[in-house]
Amino acid sequence: MSVVSSIQSDVDLSPYNTFALAAKAKHFVELKHAEDIKELIAWVGSKQLPWMVIGGGSNLLLLEDFSGLVIVNKLRGIEVSDDAETYTIKAAAGEDWHQFVQWTVKQGMPGLENLALIPGTVGASPVQNIGAYGIELANVCSEVEFYSLLTNSMQTLSSKQCKFAYRDSIFKAQLKDQVVISKVTFKLSKSWLAKRDYGGLQQLAEDVSAQTVFEEVCRMRISKLPDPKVLGNAGSFFKNPLVSQQHLSSLLSRYPEMPNYPASKGQTKLAAGWLIDKLGLKGYSIGGAAVHQDQALVLVNKANAKASDLLALCRHIRQQVWQSFNVLLQPEVRFITHSGEIEPSTVLGKPDAAE
Ligand SMILES: Cc1cc2nc3c(=O)[nH]c(=O)nc-3n(C[C@H](O)[C@H](O)[C@H](O)COP(=O)(O)OP(=O)(O)OC[C@H]3O[C@@H](n4cnc5c(N)ncnc54)[C@H](O)[C@@H]3O)c2cc1C
Repeated sequence: MSVVSSIQSDVDLSPYNTFALAAKAKHFVELKHAEDIKELIAWVGSKQLPWMVIGGGSNLLLLEDFSGLVIVNKLRGIEVSDDAETYTIKAAAGEDWHQFVQWTVKQGMPGLENLALIPGTVGASPVQNIGAYGIELANVCSEVEFYSLLTNSMQTLSSKQCKFAYRDSIFKAQLKDQVVISKVTFKLSKSWLAKRDYGGLQQLAEDVSAQTVFEEVCRMRISKLPDPKVLGNAGSFFKNPLVSQQHLSSLLSRYPEMPNYPASKGQTKLAAGWLIDKLGLKGYSIGGAAVHQDQALVLVNKANAKASDLLALCRHIRQQVWQSFNVLLQPEVRFITHSGEIEPSTVLGKPDAAE
């Protein structure tokens, strides 16, 4: 049976985005076989419709109904091989990320434990180069397989070719809207050493097991972050901003306690959550949207929020942070309109010098 015959119409996307925002997909399909991608892409091409892939919907802000085809990635399967030094694990893009991490740790293949409990799918993990507790996907990913709309065929890129950077990759730049990721390959070293130099893990013993690191990361995340199943959210709403040395010096002269971390190209990374918290915005709400009362970087759907409430809240935060610190916060969450993803600045505008 052709996959096209399983396309549904006018499907409610609230169960498919962790903000639980009400938006409909004009057309909707679950992708269960990688061979079907070509047919689906040909179908949207023949109808000149926009399309998008959703994994767990944990990094999306759906601004309105989507007028094209939403492809929900349900590709499953894990293959493992090894040699004297390394485990090579190929995981299908629709595998649940956290369950996959848990499975590797249980199988005695350590290396992913610091990335436990990040919501979403394996297939989305290279898109923004997910990271937490001192590890990024870039450290463990060796290849990404995808269907390319540029060549109408399956292709593979090495980790280097993926151009991973902080919350960034080629899939958000040159290959944006041009690929459906089907598989991610991980290389995990057999001479594993726990990565425990990140805050909260430093107290763990040198010979700690991967299982203990996994449990500790889960414990810390559960204590700090709201569960999207209980309180709609998309994790960190903003990226941590990068500033020049000169800008940092001027900020430190006013706020000596401001956390800052060295980044590439001589820049410094600031903690966006600290900036928002410093302005007393924890708990601040507009309509049904609010800044989480314990985590300033997380915006939540407190009470049947509309996308417009989240947008207004996002604008307000950017305005306040801009005025106080001369720092322009950039959303980490992807903004999706009726025809696909847009640059957040298109709808947010630029903050004014004075409100
Ligand atoms: C509570 C919470 C905590 C979080 N913590 C972290 C964290 O610690 N670190 C971190 O990095 N992120 C974090 N996130 C963000 C989010 O979990 C990640 O960005 C995750 O990788 C998104 O996966 P997803 O499957 O839900 O992607 P989606 O939200 O469904 O999609 C995200 C983007 O990737 C694209 N995409 C998804 N799958 C594919 C595919 N197969 N092929 C091509 N494009 C695809 C989509 O089109 C979209 O543009 C958190 C989110 C929440 C809700």
